Amino acid sequence: MRASAPAAAAAAVPEPVRPIRVDPRVLRTTLTAGAALVTALWAAQAHYSARLDALFATGAHLTGLLAAYGVLVMLFLMARVPAVEHGVGADRLARRHALGGRWVLTLCAAHTLLALCGYAAHTGDDLLSAAADLLGYPALAAAALGTALLGAVGVSSARALRRRVPHETWRALHLLTYVGAGLAFAHQLAGPDLAGSVLAGWLWSLLHATVAVLLVWYRLVVPVRQALRHSLRVREVTVEGPDVVSVVMQGIGLDELRAEPGQFLRWRFLQRRLWHTALPFSLSAPVRDDRVRITVKAVGAHTRRVRRLRPGTRVLATGPFGALTAHRRSRRKVLLLAGGVGITPMRALFETLPCAPGDLTLLYRASSAEQLALRAELESIAAARGACLHFLLGPSDASFDPLAPQALRNLVPELAAHDVYLCGPPGMARAATTALVRAGVPAERIHAENFTY
Ligand SMILES: Cc1cc2nc3c(=O)[nH]c(=O)nc-3n(C[C@H](O)[C@H](O)[C@H](O)COP(=O)(O)OP(=O)(O)OC[C@H]3O[C@@H](n4cnc5c(N)ncnc54)[C@H](O)[C@@H]3O)c2cc1C
Repeated sequence: MRASAPAAAAAAVPEPVRPIRVDPRVLRTTLTAGAALVTALWAAQAHYSARLDALFATGAHLTGLLAAYGVLVMLFLMARVPAVEHGVGADRLARRHALGGRWVLTLCAAHTLLALCGYAAHTGDDLLSAAADLLGYPALAAAALGTALLGAVGVSSARALRRRVPHETWRALHLLTYVGAGLAFAHQLAGPDLAGSVLAGWLWSLLHATVAVLLVWYRLVVPVRQALRHSLRVREVTVEGPDVVSVVMQGIGLDELRAEPGQFLRWRFLQRRLWHTALPFSLSAPVRDDRVRITVKAVGAHTRRVRRLRPGTRVLATGPFGALTAHRRSRRKVLLLAGGVGITPMRALFETLPCAPGDLTLLYRASSAEQLALRAELESIAAARGACLHFLLGPSDASFDPLAPQALRNLVPELAAHDVYLCGPPGMARAATTALVRAGVPAERIHAENFTY
């Protein structure tokens, strides 16, 4: 390792080709419309009756259809479709996926209970006998196993448990979602809502096939193709500060990645005890020619190993992902607000966001001057671009809060007229968002990225 030199801040950066992006509102509206269509399908097939067993059964059909649709949406959100990833953002997608997962599990539980009660009311059996009987129906045992697997995935994602389970174990458990969804599929087709209409059955199958193709394509084929095409290898590892290193990698045809400043990729370093995990790291500089750079803070076992990467190590990178890019900007003036290692995407944006002198400000919050990473580069970029740069130093529990609304207003004239890009630890990001809103920045102009899902 060697100490890093300041970047050639003013070097020309080629204008990237803009990818297609799905607007978050369009995605929300489309998914809601899908749920409405599923409900309409149920309403068209439902047998309206005031009998108790029929009421339970019709409730079971609705919750079952919506649960199945929900599973499909969950899989779609995690399919890593670039247009969705770049438009909505990976962290927002992950949050929606987590929230949606709770709804899906609730619907699955309601479906199971209503179906059991309906059957028990119809036959006059108790619930246990009804369950034993129902498992004898075609595809129902498989669907019950599938639902149990989805439940297990949901439990493993509960916050209290998630913190204790290693990330790789949690991810491996998540693969059961595919098995669960597959096992439940035949039961969905056999249900009266879909079995009653050939067209509905075909459309339902087509929807599932489309999501399956997207998953296979973007989570398997594209990563393999990228690995073969780019032949990435570690070129050098440079120390940036205590516990922080930059890793420069070299590869072929990196412009084809169309990675934009502010985005991240998932990096798999083919080295002992690192190859089994793909870690997300933002680009800390724009992609240039055959080079790409990340800057990593050692926080756990894997990131500590990144510090010891040897030049020549092969790297598999998938992506880019994330929506913290220039396309979100809507104002002339831009404030970049970074906390800790959240400086990495901000460093890339600081260099590349098109801004006239005086229109771009970077605030970098850290507990002390020693904790500042990439300082020389930032100063060099600020000088070259006529941008403002402030280091906000001090422990987070100090009496003076440099991120308080008035402190922010003092540092950044016309703060309310800015777009704000924000990246930092969750606590700092939450506090900064509140302060910015209080200082007059509309929430829709605060563009944040979370480093934890
Ligand atoms: C979009 C995004 C961009 C990021 N960019 C940077 C960056 O530029 N520089 C930087 O230093 N850090 C970045 N991080 C954080 C970095 O990915 C984690 O610090 C790192 O994965 C922790 O690995 P660890 O095993 O050493 O630590 P651990 O102590 O094992 O994990 C610490 C945290 O990271 C999470 N984590 C661990 N492995 C993964 C994984 N494979 N995928 C997702 N989360 C995981 C864990 O759930 C835990 O919350 C980014 C994270 C995200 C989500």
